[in-house]
Amino acid sequence: MDELPRIYQPRERTTAPSDRASLLSGLNPEQAAAAAHGDGPLLIIAGAGTGKTRTLVYRVAHLIERGIRPERILLLTFTRRAAQEMLSRAERLVGSASGRVHGGTFHATGHRLLRTYGESAGLARDFSIIDQGDAEELMGRARAQLGFGAGAKRFPKKETLHYVYSRHINTEKPLEVILGEELPQFAEYADQITRIFAEYVSRKGERNLLDYDDLLYFWATMLESSEELAQRISSLYDHVLVDEYQDTNILQARILRGMCRTHRNITVVGDDAQSIYAFRGASFRNILEFPKQFQGAAVVTLEQNYRSTQPILDVTNTLISRASERFSKTLWTVRGGGDKPWLVTARDEHEQTRFVVDRILQLHENGTPLGEIAVLFRAGYMSADLEIELANRKIPFEKWGGIKFLEAAHIKDVLSFLRVLDNPRDEISWFRILTLLPGVGEVTANNAIHALLARAWDVGALEDFVPPARARAAHGALVAMLRELRDTPSAQTGDAGPGGADEGAVARDIARIRVLYDDILRERYDRPEPRLADLDQLQTIAAGYPTRGAFLSALTLEPPSSTQDLGAGADSEDDHLVLSTAHSAKGKEWDAVFVIWAVDGWFPSSRALGDDDELEEERRLMYVAMTRARNELAIVYPLNAYATQRGSEYSIDQLSRFVDRGVRQHMQRVALGPPAPDPAAAPPRQEPLLDLRALLRGRFTP
Ligand code: ATP
Ligand code: MG
Repeated sequence: MDELPRIYQPRERTTAPSDRASLLSGLNPEQAAAAAHGDGPLLIIAGAGTGKTRTLVYRVAHLIERGIRPERILLLTFTRRAAQEMLSRAERLVGSASGRVHGGTFHATGHRLLRTYGESAGLARDFSIIDQGDAEELMGRARAQLGFGAGAKRFPKKETLHYVYSRHINTEKPLEVILGEELPQFAEYADQITRIFAEYVSRKGERNLLDYDDLLYFWATMLESSEELAQRISSLYDHVLVDEYQDTNILQARILRGMCRTHRNITVVGDDAQSIYAFRGASFRNILEFPKQFQGAAVVTLEQNYRSTQPILDVTNTLISRASERFSKTLWTVRGGGDKPWLVTARDEHEQTRFVVDRILQLHENGTPLGEIAVLFRAGYMSADLEIELANRKIPFEKWGGIKFLEAAHIKDVLSFLRVLDNPRDEISWFRILTLLPGVGEVTANNAIHALLARAWDVGALEDFVPPARARAAHGALVAMLRELRDTPSAQTGDAGPGGADEGAVARDIARIRVLYDDILRERYDRPEPRLADLDQLQTIAAGYPTRGAFLSALTLEPPSSTQDLGAGADSEDDHLVLSTAHSAKGKEWDAVFVIWAVDGWFPSSRALGDDDELEEERRLMYVAMTRARNELAIVYPLNAYATQRGSEYSIDQLSRFVDRGVRQHMQRVALGPPAPDPAAAPPRQEPLLDLRALLRGRFTP
């Protein structure tokens, strides 16, 4: 045979010393020292915008240049999006090898490891993951099974039970302590609650389900309770790097100890002043205690901010200087110029919206792309008015945070069908499907589930189940559909014969499910069209996955965090504005940032007002929001707001307590239209005796 021509392969970047020097030349000396740190534990603790994430990217690139195999590097981040962004930045530095670095969230990594090693630890291979909503339902069923709370008026609800359970797992605090500290009114039920937890845990086992907490807890336990598993898992990686370490909890710290037990090559970066997930069990003390957990850790602090102008830093430094406990220091920058941040008083929500939209258009006309502008708020619902106005004015935007696509009832409905096909033991999904059927109520649904349980979740039991007459037609249609889908195994195994995985199989499943479900949906909703469009979207996303299991795990673990994540791709190229909750804006930056609803009771949230720790967390959240801005920052608050959640129907609102006099000194006030009196500066204005419109609106607000 003729010799094949030799193909010229351009080499990936070499590791020549000059290259190495140029690699780190994008960093200042402290950052470069951290990026080039040798082996052993390293902590970078520094304020917002000091280049922590950038340093981590360079460190990944440096490790690869040093000869560490990329697939032996684990990069843990808060979202999948963050990991992808960091790795594509590393790729620009050292070439495509960095694409082989394992990057993702703690939960996704735990999931991957449990799929591989879970069987050796007693888990069935084909387990399903349930999201928080389903975990709460399962908790509710455990509670009902034991009959607790049926009579007692004040027995904790299923959501509360799940919250306490999750907190117990994530913080390692004993149940009694959690109840005593946070829910003293339920302290007397500690025994019953423990029994419900036991029932919940055994239900998860019998039904082959893992909740989010299991992904971390089982991972930690594999590392701590079996020498052999610990050995196998921890030897997968030579280096572990973690961004946003301030938002990890004790369980995650245990995981990291286990993963790095032999080599101790762990790098974590974070900012205690930006810790915003205590409500999920994270503790910023975790980052402060890192040097104790990893003896001999090198600690790097950074104080030069590269993101924001000095006038913005003057405001954010002052804001965070009020925090009661903190480690990070005051930040400075060499970025001169820039306007003092604006403090904008609007008369009401409409005026706030109008100002934000007008100003965005103005910035846009002056050359700022929409993608360089963000509007941030404390909670997802606070952007409703703005969203309507943006849609009216045809300004493209995407929204991060708030209610997720997957939490919508119709999406959960369709996924439940896929779930029972993937895992016939998924009781919660059975219950959901059955109660969707015309003529089937809770009693019939429970009877059908008992029939399934009695025959070890053999779907045949449902076929033999005799429903009441009124449900017979629907039952027949369901059984026929399930049988048809079970007989199309391609979406189960991903094996479509010689061609390999069948990309369209899961989408075709959904199409078949919709033959049954779309009618139910049309029956339920007066305006089914947007919901049907959502299902079209779901079908499009599904087309990218080889199996039902892969699709369901991906959706549950990495729920699309923005409407854009759902798009088929074309839209994402368009220039669009970002609307985001402050939580979802973590780690990001924009040229211009608006923080709206800077009103006491909104931001900080009214729920935090009675608790010092929660109030401190709200302050850090405000700090996260404001420190996203590079050049322009505007804090906006409406004077009059319609307030249902606080009991009063109408209120004259106060500027957020975080924007106190000292902070305001670094801002310029902007009044809109005819000057409105400002209660934060002037004596309180006379409240109107009556507000006719608010009263009328109140009649229609639950
Ligand atoms: P946060 O606390 O908000 O997560 P961070 O500390 O991770 O912030 P980065 O996002 O890494 O900060 O950096 C903020 C901005 O400063 C980015 O645009 C980054 O590219 C830029 N930057 C950081 N360090 C340097 C540097 N040495 N030279 C030039 N630009 C830098
Ligand atoms: Mg960062």
